[in-house]
Amino acid sequence: MTVDTLSNVSHLLASLGLEADNPGAFAGTWIPTHGERVVSLNPATGEPIAAVHMASVDDYERVAAVSLDAFREWQTWPAPKRGEVVRQLGEELRRHKAELGHLVSLEVGKITSEGLGEVQEMIDMADLAVGMSRQLYGLSMHSERPQHRMYEQWHPLGPIGVITAFNFPVAVWAWNAMVAAVCGDSVIWKPSHQAPLTALAVTRIADRVLKANNAPPIFNLAFGGRAGVGERMVADRRLPLISATGSVRMGREIGKVLADRLGRGLMELGGNNGILVTDDADLDLALRAVLFAAVGTAGQRCTTTRRLFLQKGIAAEMKRRLVDAYKSIRVGDPLEPGTLMGPLIDETAVTNMLKAIDTAQAEGGKVLAGGKRIDRPGFFVEPTLIEATVHMPITCEETFAPILYVFEFEDLDEAIRMHNSVPQGLSSAIFTLNMRSAERFLAATGSDCGIANVNIGTSGAEIGGAFGGEKETGGGREAGSDSWKIYMRRQTCTLNWGTSLPLAQGVEFKVGE
Ligand code: NAD
Repeated sequence: MTVDTLSNVSHLLASLGLEADNPGAFAGTWIPTHGERVVSLNPATGEPIAAVHMASVDDYERVAAVSLDAFREWQTWPAPKRGEVVRQLGEELRRHKAELGHLVSLEVGKITSEGLGEVQEMIDMADLAVGMSRQLYGLSMHSERPQHRMYEQWHPLGPIGVITAFNFPVAVWAWNAMVAAVCGDSVIWKPSHQAPLTALAVTRIADRVLKANNAPPIFNLAFGGRAGVGERMVADRRLPLISATGSVRMGREIGKVLADRLGRGLMELGGNNGILVTDDADLDLALRAVLFAAVGTAGQRCTTTRRLFLQKGIAAEMKRRLVDAYKSIRVGDPLEPGTLMGPLIDETAVTNMLKAIDTAQAEGGKVLAGGKRIDRPGFFVEPTLIEATVHMPITCEETFAPILYVFEFEDLDEAIRMHNSVPQGLSSAIFTLNMRSAERFLAATGSDCGIANVNIGTSGAEIGGAFGGEKETGGGREAGSDSWKIYMRRQTCTLNWGTSLPLAQGVEFKVGE
């Protein structure tokens, strides 16, 4: 089937301003693109939805030039006025929530409520950023010198490059773009080659809002792969910050280029998240949380639970309940009510999952549930539970699929050691009703992750807190708290309103004496 014959989605595409073939670069206006033609597939059927032509490096240059000009003007707008534009963008996204959510489900296979949730996250980010636009606070310090005043102020940084992964095709842009916009920056977005359509649709909406406000074109887009646009963008010295979300492999590649040009990087990379369940835990709560965190989004969240540590006293019962629950998970069309797990993103993801299961078995793991591809069109697999030990090297890797490794432990210190023994450090959780165990897990010697929860799973973070992880997860922080600071340039100012020139640290420098 060709994209042109796919009439069942043409109404949806038209309602979002999309066509069967679309240019993949926006520089204040859609520009013709000269790169490869990419057909976005529906992973639930393997059928095409629509095509997008990638930007070439020359096309990217046009986008970057426009974004730089837009930044020069936008940085002069007062931050609360910038916030007002972002408020209107949030309103416009509210109006289009149903269609956008549907497109997210079609393009990346999220179940309906998760597709809608992803758009809601963009709206929440807009609301948060509006508030931030009046709270870009700097500190004021007491100078050691008389009649001097010292303070810090925060200025816009420049055009920001935002590289996103397929699994949060629009929310991650919003985490960055909404905050960067109120900070006075322009944004160039390079979406994943596996999810260009949602990015195009969101860029159209954002552009309408900018034009209605006579604002410069701060939300631009250059769709391309890792080679070409991706690499050019990361090396572009006009972009002081590259925010990159994706695999650890990608982070390593980008990190080297940024280090060479001394650019700023905001890395949101892979996770290998664990949940500990102690003997005293509320097992009903733990079971529900593990299922959502391990199986939700078909295991394709950076915060997906991939490792489960069960204390010996409850291990047998939890495994039995998990196996029963895994067998009852409804896998299928993500847009059908009642489906809990949709497809993987593509054929490669299926192959990688099956390979990981083989490796786990070769290393001594035992499949307790699932383990196979589902025989139907699209990229469907069974959610898989594997009994494992920490000596299995595969359990230290992130396989972006619904595989949950289950371990047993005697005491909490041992569990924390096992939990922290992997190279990634994104999200973690403990299920316990014992206050001492909870605090032990949250202490400095407890979980080594950027996110640590008690009686809540590892995924589904709220935007109010800073989001990100340690170790190979890259150290970046996005969304709430004071994450806005990375999108700005800090300036320390000292002002002398007196008639003498005392030097700091008591240094004397008397000319002519
Ligand atoms: P990926 O690394 O294959 O690609 C991510 C993005 O980086 C894509 O846009 C890709 O084109 C681009 N890219 C890759 N190499 C590049 C290079 N050398 N230069 C410039 N751009 C480059 O990841 P994916 O398969 O799309 O997404 C899954 C991965 O993303 C998982 O590892 C997941 O954990 C991670 N992820 C992390 C977070 C987080 O916040 N920590 C959120 C979502 C996804």
